[in-house]
Amino acid sequence: MLDSSLTTFAVFGNPIDHSLSPLMHQAAIKRMHLKAQYVPFCVTDLKNAVEGIRRLDIRGVSVTLPFKTEVMDYLDEVEESALRIGAVNTIWNHEGKLKGYNTDWLGFVLSLKDRMEIKDKRFIVLGAGGAARGIIYGLVKEGGHPIILNRTLSKAEALGKEFGCLFVPESERDKIAAEGLINTTSLGMSPDKGISPFPKELLNRFQWVVDIIYNPFKTKLMREAEEAGCQTISGLGMFVHQGAEQIKIWTGLEPPRGYMMEVVGARLKENDRDVIEIRSLSQLTAQVTIPGSKSYTQRAMIMAALAEGESHLQGPLLSEDTKYLADALRLLGADIEVHGGDMSVQGTSGRIQNPQKEIYLGNNGTAMRLLTTVVCLGKGEYHLTGAPRLLERPVQPLLAALNNLGVKALSRDKQGFPPVMIQAEGLQGGKVTFSNIDSSQYISSLLISAPFARGDFTLELQGSIPSLPYVAMTTALMKRFGAEVIQESPSRFLIKNMQKYKGISCRIEGDVSSASYFFLAAALARSRVRVQPILPDTIQGDIRFLNVLEELGCHVLRGDHWVEVLGGKLIPGETIFDFKDMPDMVPTLAVLAACRPGKTIIKNIAHLRIKESNRLEALVRELTKTGIQAVETEDGLIIEGGLPHRAEIETYNDHRIAMSFAILGLIVPGMTIKDPDCVQKSFPGFWRELKKLY
Ligand code: NAP
Repeated sequence: MLDSSLTTFAVFGNPIDHSLSPLMHQAAIKRMHLKAQYVPFCVTDLKNAVEGIRRLDIRGVSVTLPFKTEVMDYLDEVEESALRIGAVNTIWNHEGKLKGYNTDWLGFVLSLKDRMEIKDKRFIVLGAGGAARGIIYGLVKEGGHPIILNRTLSKAEALGKEFGCLFVPESERDKIAAEGLINTTSLGMSPDKGISPFPKELLNRFQWVVDIIYNPFKTKLMREAEEAGCQTISGLGMFVHQGAEQIKIWTGLEPPRGYMMEVVGARLKENDRDVIEIRSLSQLTAQVTIPGSKSYTQRAMIMAALAEGESHLQGPLLSEDTKYLADALRLLGADIEVHGGDMSVQGTSGRIQNPQKEIYLGNNGTAMRLLTTVVCLGKGEYHLTGAPRLLERPVQPLLAALNNLGVKALSRDKQGFPPVMIQAEGLQGGKVTFSNIDSSQYISSLLISAPFARGDFTLELQGSIPSLPYVAMTTALMKRFGAEVIQESPSRFLIKNMQKYKGISCRIEGDVSSASYFFLAAALARSRVRVQPILPDTIQGDIRFLNVLEELGCHVLRGDHWVEVLGGKLIPGETIFDFKDMPDMVPTLAVLAACRPGKTIIKNIAHLRIKESNRLEALVRELTKTGIQAVETEDGLIIEGGLPHRAEIETYNDHRIAMSFAILGLIVPGMTIKDPDCVQKSFPGFWRELKKLY
């Protein structure tokens, strides 16, 4: 309700619930002893809302997304800087006449000037959207030199030409020298909270790193820049100064900027608690959408990078892992662009470059293993490395196989583990035998690069080999890219040399491993959940988890592009499952087992100890915290189902632990998940999809 005895200020946006403007402006109004109120409006009809400013005699309005451009059409006058930037974030109602201003650019400039000089400094500006326009305007006005770097080059080019500044393609990123780096993209903010827009290992080149995102208070970029020894400036200063400038326009008075900074800063730090509480629910009927398959996306990206011509991947997974892989493939000479949700890859025709520097892969185990053979196709020394956990994940069988093929392939530090050094001179053909290996990725690694070898290639498998469906996925995709794998027997593959990959257009199917969390939700909540897109004839091995659910009492409906699970009473009793070929489904099954009366024995999964975390140890520890009896055996787990209780779940930077225990939280009140951002690895939109269940 508006109080007519007070002067009214407002904010227009849609959505508006999460805006911190009301908190900040109300605090300033109170501290300034103004007889005023500041009211949020979630606007659906902007024209009428602007008309309402006059009718309700609202003195000033903050305008936020998505109206900053459209609002200009409905105003009586627009101030020069706002016209130049093409956006209005402030309206002043001066005796019935509505004038538009832009205080975003000024807020940005003031936040920098609090800490540093802008004049004559070079800044890489990441992004070319609405905020970038104001920032580039401000930097140029203050005598700085912005250089625009944006995933869509055409937008960077248009902006560069308009403001008379440099722009560069992403492939040139490593070569630009600048004192400062400014992030104006939305990477780092929910739902892309755990993602940084710039590689960590390149940050130490900058003296200053600025992130205009202020929520979360400390983005991943800010954290990594601090670790790299850079001076950092967060988006809080920009937010407060732009708001303070609004109050100055509306009232002619100087607002208490320091106090506003304190109030907003305190709220942001509170929000930044690195744990999420899951709200429990009773019944649900929901439809959720899963991202593109991680395994398909990564294989397709690598084959496209080795292919002749351009490939178009529709609906690929865009996550932390695929970002590390894209960066690596760019260093090897592929040109990769993301447009909206799709990806185009200009291939290298198998002639990969030598970047003359380390290739950093985060905790992307697939990329580490698949690229270890890919770099053998190049010339000279290649170094592949990654995050500390990746350096604990073995690669020995692959290094041994490559050495047998005449490649000098070494572990740089600990024998059998990354970082890996390859002395490359192309790949010979020959025969490789793998026996009793701990990962099928060694097989996929050799298969993907084999068509480029100088001779024919034979691969033989002996003994126990886990996760074989992933090998089928590799060979199927190789076929689509035009290279034939002759499977002479279930354990023997022949790849003729002199084959080529040709660029293709392909739609990446939905990720069945990601889907499993929602299947689990239906099973635990005895409810109905439809998950899309899933192909009924997918060869992703994890689809067989549905058979397990059926065996345990759920009903499964399979449509053209979806699967629906209807949870029923779980069948009790001792059950043994062999999950050798579905290792990623073990956390999902473990949580299901915790809620099913009786003993569940999961066997043949010793290889889970070398995943993102030691998953066997992690599952036992976290299930025990919830009061469930779980023990680790030599090759698996034994779980005694019961009634789990609330607990704070440690996630060990392992996305699958986070997602499976989050689902347990749907039926166990008060469950909290630590480091929820670790889902960025494979399913950045997981928390958003989870909300659809309520
Ligand atoms: P916008 O117009 O939508 O522009 C977003 C930019 O980010 C575009 O250049 C886009 O690239 C890029 N981008 C988006 N997703 C990306 C991805 N996955 N990888 C690489 N680049 C990606 O948004 P905006 O209005 O400029 O706002 C951007 C951010 O600034 C938001 O987070 C907003 O909260 C923040 N902001 C802060 C303040 C403050 O007061 N501190 C003020 C305004 C805005 P393409 O061009 O290729 O699409």
